[in-house]
Amino acid sequence: MIISGRAKVAAVLGWPVAHSRSPLIHGYWLEMYAIDGAYIPLAVRPEHFTAAFRALPKLGFAGANITVPHKEAALREADVVDPIARRIGAANTAIVEDDRIRVTNTDAPGFLASLADGAPNWRSATGAALVIGAGGAARAVVAALIDAGVPEVLVSNRTEARAEDLVRDFGRPARAIPWVERTSALGQARLLVNASSAGLTGGPSLDLALDRIAPETIVVDLVYDPLATPLLQGARAHGCVTIDGLGMLLHQARAGFKAWFGVEPAITAALRDRVTANIERTRR
Ligand code: NAP
Repeated sequence: MIISGRAKVAAVLGWPVAHSRSPLIHGYWLEMYAIDGAYIPLAVRPEHFTAAFRALPKLGFAGANITVPHKEAALREADVVDPIARRIGAANTAIVEDDRIRVTNTDAPGFLASLADGAPNWRSATGAALVIGAGGAARAVVAALIDAGVPEVLVSNRTEARAEDLVRDFGRPARAIPWVERTSALGQARLLVNASSAGLTGGPSLDLALDRIAPETIVVDLVYDPLATPLLQGARAHGCVTIDGLGMLLHQARAGFKAWFGVEPAITAALRDRVTANIERTRR
């Protein structure tokens, strides 16, 4: 691949970074829209993050995605932090603006866009949501659901103190649910979101009995490797509408692409197929 001197360049900073699907997604869009640009993975050790991040404007980058383990550090190092990233406590997208770096978090809107695609009839007022997990992804989902107007956001996490911390940060209508009560809480929920990493290929499945789930409950799994997690398979057997993690992965990428390359990119069936094939091929 030859990159011209005029190309706009963006990157993903992570450690490790080889697993990131962002180069595949952005590379697809660059080709689709015939943009003179490039998107590259940068493996940045935690101890080098500040120097690498602060160098982005000097190196002429339009911006970058920020992935594990740098999402909190990006918040500290940025010149400008969008309110949504501040609330979530993590940033996944950096945009260079006049030599300054602004960071934001596109996981929250990406989650809601994926939910709207997969369950167009879902309405925030329908009832409570149960979110499993209390890491960065769970914080983005809780922020999104609160902003969307969900009347009760129940949060349950294996390590209960983390769910309590999250709920303290966000306030009402978020409420922590003890881990042992997650199954009974599911009975009240009209939306279930697995925002934990349980269900990832090579790890344990999410330990959550589905016998109390109502068939009208929409079930979202943020895990996208595999796409058909045991949770989603079980929920489908109960008649629930299910949404896998691919939609959020693709939607969260759109705002960064638009900011760096000037085009609002479309999520096409061909893009979904390409990322799905990559996930299947690289299954650990
Ligand atoms: P994180 O900050 O490391 O948090 C991991 C969470 O998973 C913690 O709450 C942890 O609980 C919980 N957990 C881990 N193993 C578990 C198990 N066996 N049973 C129950 N809970 C378990 O990770 P994250 O960034 O929030 O990401 C979470 C998941 O979402 C990952 O699989 C990630 O790939 C996915 N994700 C997807 C998208 C997307 O676009 N689709 C975006 C972001 C994240 P403890 O506190 O008890 O350790």
